[in-house]
Amino acid sequence: MKLLVNAKIFSSKRPQSILIQNEKIIFIGDFKDINISNDSLEIIDCKNNSVLPGFIDGHCHPFETISNLSSIDLSNESFRSKNDIYNFFNNLKFNQDLKLLKFHGFEHRYLNSDLSLKFFDDLNINIPLIIKHRTGHLIFTNSLAMKYAKLNIKNLEYPINSMEIHKKFSDLSSENYYYNLKIYNSNLIKFGYTTIVDAGASNDILKFEKYQELKSAKSLSPNICFMIGSNHINEFQNINNNKELFIGPTKFMINEYLDILEIENLLKKHLIYSKNDIAFHAISSEMIFKIIHILYEKLSILLSDRNIRLEHATEFIPEFYLKYQSKNLFLIYNPNFIYDHGDFYIENQDEFEIGSLFNLAESMNKGYNVGLGTDAPFGNYNPFRMIFTALNRITKNNKIIKSETKINIEDILKSFSINNARAINTNGTTGSVNIGKNADLIILNNDINSLCDDSEILNTKVIHTIINGKSEYKSC
Ligand SMILES: [Zn+2]
Repeated sequence: MKLLVNAKIFSSKRPQSILIQNEKIIFIGDFKDINISNDSLEIIDCKNNSVLPGFIDGHCHPFETISNLSSIDLSNESFRSKNDIYNFFNNLKFNQDLKLLKFHGFEHRYLNSDLSLKFFDDLNINIPLIIKHRTGHLIFTNSLAMKYAKLNIKNLEYPINSMEIHKKFSDLSSENYYYNLKIYNSNLIKFGYTTIVDAGASNDILKFEKYQELKSAKSLSPNICFMIGSNHINEFQNINNNKELFIGPTKFMINEYLDILEIENLLKKHLIYSKNDIAFHAISSEMIFKIIHILYEKLSILLSDRNIRLEHATEFIPEFYLKYQSKNLFLIYNPNFIYDHGDFYIENQDEFEIGSLFNLAESMNKGYNVGLGTDAPFGNYNPFRMIFTALNRITKNNKIIKSETKINIEDILKSFSINNARAINTNGTTGSVNIGKNADLIILNNDINSLCDDSEILNTKVIHTIINGKSEYKSC
C-alpha cells in the first residue's frame, strides 16, 4: 500500500492523505482516522505540493512522435523562397551513411511557387529524403525516397497525402525505433501523462496489435485509448479491451470536397453498422458546420447516446451551435497550437476571426464539454506549456492571440483530466482523485493553486507519476 501525506489535491487548499491499495484509491482524508500499521506502508511525502489526476492527452499520435525523434525539426525555419530551401539543404551537415534523411515541421505556404519532386532531386542529396509538413498531412520526397519505398510517383499527387503512404514510410523509419520508444515513454511519464489517446484516422488492427506488443513488453507506461480509423472498423470485431489498452471512438477524416449529401450517406452507413462513439477531424468552420448539421439535423435518430467528438474544433463558433449543445458533444481543442503555430495563423488567417480560434473559454462559458489534446508531434506535448498557452494565448514569437473571454487554470486542468476521461468513457475510473477511482495521479513540485505569476507554470514539474497504483516516475 502507498500512503501519500501532505497532499493538496487540486484545488483544495487543505493537505490530506491518500491511501492507495493495489490499483485503487481507497481512502482520502486525515490519516489519523484509519487504523493501519506503518510497516506495511510506502509513505510518500507530497510536502504540501499539488496532487492532480494524471494528465490525459485527448488526442495525439504516439508512433509519429517516436518517429520524429530521429527526424530533423524544421519548425523554426521560415522558408520564404526556393532559394532559402536550397541554401538550407546546401549548408546542412548530416551523416552520409544514413539510410534515410527525415524532416518534420516543414512549412511551404510562404513560398509563391510550387515545389516538385524535381526540385528536391535537384538538391543533389544522395539519400532518400522525406520531409513532413507541419500538420503531418503532406509529405515531400525526392525520387530516391520513392524508389526506397517502392512507390510510383505517377500514381500520386505531389506533395503526397500522408494518409496514402503513411504505412510505407512508417515501416521504413524503424531505425533507432526501440531507443526512441524509450525516450518517448520517459517523456510521457515525466510529463505526467497517465492516459493517452491515439487519434490516427488510419488506425488499423495491425497498429493495435503493435500496441498490444508494447504493452505486454511494458514499453509504454500510460494507459492507451486507441481510436479506430473509420475504414477499419470491421477489423475490430473481437477485441479484448482492458484498462491499459482499449478501443476508443471511430475516427473520421472527411474529404473537404464532399458535399453534404455525400457525407450524410457515408455517415449513415457507419452509424447503422456500429454503435461506437465517433470522432471527426474538424478544423474549418465549414467542416464543423457540415458535421454538426448532418448529425443533429439529418441523422439524429441514429446517434442514440454515443459521444460525438470534434477533434481540433479550431474554428468552432460557440454561439452558433447552442441548439445542438447536447450532453454528448465534445470539443477537443489544441490550445498548444497557439504557441506552436500561432505566428503562422497571424500571417495567414483571413476569413475567420483570429481571436476566436480554439475558443475554449467561450465554449466552456456556454456549457459545452471541452477536452484537450496536444496532437503531438504536431504540437508540443509539454503539459505545462499547454496549460500556460491555454491561459495566455502567447505564440512562439511572443504575440498574443487574444480572445474575448479569459479562462482559469481550474477549468483547463479539468479539461485535461476528467473531461477527457468523459470523452473516452473512462470517467468512472479515471480523470479525478477520488475514493474508488484508479490511482492515476501526479505530484507536482509546487502548489499550483498559489503561484504568484502564470509564468511559474512553465517552471512547474511533475516529481512523481503513479499509473494504475504503480510509481512509474520519480524525479531524483
Ligand atoms: Zn491529430
